[in-house]
Amino acid sequence: MSLENIAPPTAAPAPSDFIRDLVAQHVAAEHYPKIHTRFPPEPNGYLHIGHAKSICLNFGIAHEFGGVCNLRMDDTNPTKEDIEYVESITTDVNWLLAGWADHCLGLTPAQAPFYASNYFDQLYEFAVALIKKGKAFVCDLSAVDMETYRGAPDRPGKDSPFRNRSVEENLDLFTRMKNGEFPDGTRTLRAKIDMASSNVWLRDPILYRIRHTEHHQTGAQWCIYPMYDFAHCLSDYIEGITHSICTLEFEVHRPLYDWILLSLDLPRPLPHQYEFARLSLGYTVMSKRKLMQLVDEKLVTGWDDPRLPTISGLRRRGVTAEALRNFAYHIGITKYNGVTDVAVLEHAIREDLNKRALRRLAVLRPLKIVITNYPEGKTEELDAVNNPEDEVAGKRWIPFSRELYIERDDFQEVPPPKFFRLKPGGEVRLKYAYIIKCDEVVTDAAGNPIELRCTADLDSKSGGTTAGRKVKGTIHWVSAAHAVDAEVRLYDRLFTVAEPDTEGDFKVHLNPHSLEIVTTKCEPSLRDAKLETRYQFERIGYFTMDKDSQLSTNNPQLIFNRTITLKDTWAKALQK
Ligand code: ATP
Ligand code: MG
Repeated sequence: MSLENIAPPTAAPAPSDFIRDLVAQHVAAEHYPKIHTRFPPEPNGYLHIGHAKSICLNFGIAHEFGGVCNLRMDDTNPTKEDIEYVESITTDVNWLLAGWADHCLGLTPAQAPFYASNYFDQLYEFAVALIKKGKAFVCDLSAVDMETYRGAPDRPGKDSPFRNRSVEENLDLFTRMKNGEFPDGTRTLRAKIDMASSNVWLRDPILYRIRHTEHHQTGAQWCIYPMYDFAHCLSDYIEGITHSICTLEFEVHRPLYDWILLSLDLPRPLPHQYEFARLSLGYTVMSKRKLMQLVDEKLVTGWDDPRLPTISGLRRRGVTAEALRNFAYHIGITKYNGVTDVAVLEHAIREDLNKRALRRLAVLRPLKIVITNYPEGKTEELDAVNNPEDEVAGKRWIPFSRELYIERDDFQEVPPPKFFRLKPGGEVRLKYAYIIKCDEVVTDAAGNPIELRCTADLDSKSGGTTAGRKVKGTIHWVSAAHAVDAEVRLYDRLFTVAEPDTEGDFKVHLNPHSLEIVTTKCEPSLRDAKLETRYQFERIGYFTMDKDSQLSTNNPQLIFNRTITLKDTWAKALQK
């Protein structure tokens, strides 16, 4: 991790919300010796920006209240999980926290996460204890029959015919389940609660199922695996979690969370579950299942495709951890689900990059110009500040010569009214350099401009006698002889509609123009661009070097990703 990536601890006051208010009350009442939260992803995909919200909440609370937060892999479903996801999750969490709340990660020095699978022995013993208390039984109903027996929210369920097995028989069957005597799907261990409960989660929920599948952590040791509801509250208990914070859809699971802990008569204090509204973001999809579909069907280049809302995609796109944390703080924590306007995220990204990005000149779609009154073979080194927002960022030198490139869009042969850039006979200032006038347009056979012949007011540069002369437009440029080529990947929103997954197939809303690749002419200082550094290509947007760049060869190949445009072009398009 480079220094540039490590943001200083946030100086902003900690936010306030209903969960933090509760935690503050618990701290004041000395309810717990220490506040202990956790972030419990299932390693069945890469983390996305919704997870970032949860990470910032859980680690933020630990950070603000002098507590600890565990990163725990909720790895109880080996058929869907993979070590690749364990690794990406660990990387992403560490990246998001670096320099901010990494000190409240309850990890070992090797930064290894906790695993629910580490507790499989204890969880098994807890299940045995429930059986002995007469609160769990082995059920032979098939999945289909169990569905019928469960009833519906407005209709009570029916007791399983296996519900009244003796404790001895249950213990024997559960041991044999563990020993691998039965095939997948033939038996389950279920809690004995209430088949008539209005809460369907309390209708004798499954605690364990048989899966003859190897696990990425425990190998072939187990062929029965605990269900989320059983493993989660008990993993929280084992780790000494005080506040188990999750998204609203788990509110209906809370009575089961409490039932399991209370039924085992565990010593206090017990963890408690609190729920908040998940993040949904406009113009994207967030569920891991849908993200996986985009990856598997190769509609994006991988989990870290810069168009995805995954943490690794956002990082590759050039979004910093600090921008994501600021975004998470800004949107706050509520109890109401809603869609957050993607403009809020984009604003946080622009604010952050404006402070840190080095300014550079680059021309995305070049049009050649020749300054006819500028000597052939002459090069001037003009000085330009690296970042007007940051004095310590210093200056760099930009070469100026007779032949330059400007942006094709900055010239119009037949300009619309109020076009203040270059036009035949018109004047414009070249940023950091001279005022030029377009004298002649050279076109190809089809009439498209291929070269402009211009003259410069050679006294109009900074320090010259006409330096103060005002013209309406200023445009960027690069010297043709000195320019370095780069591949620039112009990313845009992945979907064309704000809520692609409300109905039907979300993939029909994919934006066919979400990626455009151009060969760009860059000022030569970009030859030394670094992976972690953020750049503003002046007048265009914010960019970062992509990891696909080849730097160590004789013929270096630079690739830049556009993180974001300077202004919100979508808002303008909608106003039209
Ligand atoms: P998905 O629904 O995308 O598949 P998930 O809920 O299955 O995600 P987990 O790995 O179980 O993903 O999530 C880990 C934690 O992150 C959970 O506590 C969950 O509540 C939280 N989380 C998941 N998605 C969001 C979101 N969009 N906003 C806030 N928190 C989230
Ligand atoms: Mg989940």
